[in-house]
Amino acid sequence: MVEASESDFTELRRQMVEQITMHTSFVSDKIGKASLDERIIAIIDDVPRHEFVPEELRRFAYVDAPLPIGHGKTISQPFIVALMTDLLEVQPEDFVLEVGTGLGYQAAILSRLSKKVYSVEIIEELAKEAERRLRKQGYRNVEFGVGDGSSGWPEHAPFDKILVAAAPELIPPSLLNQLKPGGKMVIPAGIEDAQQLMFVEKDESGRLQTQEMLQVRFSPLVIAH
Ligand code: SAH
Repeated sequence: MVEASESDFTELRRQMVEQITMHTSFVSDKIGKASLDERIIAIIDDVPRHEFVPEELRRFAYVDAPLPIGHGKTISQPFIVALMTDLLEVQPEDFVLEVGTGLGYQAAILSRLSKKVYSVEIIEELAKEAERRLRKQGYRNVEFGVGDGSSGWPEHAPFDKILVAAAPELIPPSLLNQLKPGGKMVIPAGIEDAQQLMFVEKDESGRLQTQEMLQVRFSPLVIAH
């Protein structure tokens, strides 16, 4: 098999973006919008997803699907990455917490939109590998942590935005507590086969509002004790 060139990857990425756009319009009733933020689309069109998958899967990197990254984990589906990022409305001054770094694709996208990303991963090898890949590509505003992110990252809390890439049955209270007033969180939650992508907003007085967006399928959020 001949390795794809950078220009092949650019063309495949453009096609992936088209698929994301199409997928968005199919679910527009559920998500309450017909298209995603153009800034996010432009970033997805620019970030080399093939640098965030195992070497042998590079040629599948631009299929709009999750792919295995080892340890029984997956890189999230591009449409879901785009949607979750869009819902957060990340601003240049935002401090963002990501739970579940994987190989760092979502962290790269968040880092382009925010002041700083704190990303926690429970599997040390994945965290180290994500850090290596992001550093190699010149990302500087991402700090990596190894451990159980279900209790957030208290040393750096509170956060403007929180993105969780693995599903608990119920939203962990410590994550809700580490959200700033005015903050937003996206998190898949529920039992296997019946997870919903939840969108949580905390208003200025600290009241929480939760909305179910879409049925999704994420690997479980490990809760260490
Ligand atoms: N954000 C990644 C998705 C990785 S899949 C991407 O861009 O593709 C979800 C990840 O969550 C897995 O790597 C898994 O190891 C991690 N995870 C599961 N439970 C966790 C926990 N309690 N704390 C931190 N990471 C966790």
